[in-house]
Amino acid sequence: MSSLNIVFGEFARGCRQCQLGIKSVLFITGLCPLNCFYCPVNRDRFGRDVMFINDRPVNKFPEDIIDELDRAGSNGLAITGGDPIMVVDRVVELVRILKDNYGQDFHIHMYTHVLNASEGAIKKLAGSGIDEIRIHATNPTQLNGKLDLIKALKDAGIELGLEVPALPRFENDIIKVVEIINKLIDFVNLNELDVSPANIEALINMGYRPGLDGSVIGSIDAGIKIASEIRRRWPWINVNVCTSRYKDLAQMGSRLFRINMRISAGDEVVLDDGTLENQSNRGLTIRLRIGGKEYTVESG
Ligand code: SF4
Repeated sequence: MSSLNIVFGEFARGCRQCQLGIKSVLFITGLCPLNCFYCPVNRDRFGRDVMFINDRPVNKFPEDIIDELDRAGSNGLAITGGDPIMVVDRVVELVRILKDNYGQDFHIHMYTHVLNASEGAIKKLAGSGIDEIRIHATNPTQLNGKLDLIKALKDAGIELGLEVPALPRFENDIIKVVEIINKLIDFVNLNELDVSPANIEALINMGYRPGLDGSVIGSIDAGIKIASEIRRRWPWINVNVCTSRYKDLAQMGSRLFRINMRISAGDEVVLDDGTLENQSNRGLTIRLRIGGKEYTVESG
């Protein structure tokens, strides 16, 4: 069961933008001192201070980021890693530059593991103008000594969510995390657990089995179980179970679709999955296929 997205309540604003393909994704650093067994980050990137936007290398900061945001026509940015908090000064500088450049409505969210949150970094983020922070914590002990830091972000008016992989056998731990921070967060995102070259060995050692679609068998069921319990106990929290297929098709596909709609030449067709197909043998007719329907535009 991996072809849809399961929403209990509403999407977080950052998720709505991803869904529409109007948010770009910045991998701001591969640095992270942790070693989560499920970490999917490619080993070519993990532990290295490298940057990519929409998977294109960033050589000049912030110029290459702005160029790509303009190319993609993005209205927002998701900052991932590694753990972005490891380069908090870079995050703060970028938020300032992007808000100055695109206005306050340009929506920026980032991820961070609660274990990497320090008082100094949280103070900087609280005053940065960032819109949304997705906190990663998979068991309640990781929150020890961190609640005041999460509260400081909340008090600064930043929208907060919990974002974790939907880990079979860790359902109760994740629910206990929500039990502790339910008054501080607005949403929970449970991502289907993806198998990647970086984590396949660790996942198998942990007793998980990869499915044919490249995700861990049982992950979506774990996500639904966690989501149902959260909604039963804290109905004000929006919960989203995000499947791998949904991420690939809906989010990346729509971003690619949007980019290609902006850059395609007159003899190219933007396909359902967002890719371009050259149609030069079709003369000056431009065809678009959206949601299984075909639209024809005569350019003459
Ligand atoms: S916090 Fe994120 S980047 Fe760091 S090890 Fe865990 S999953 Fe990987």
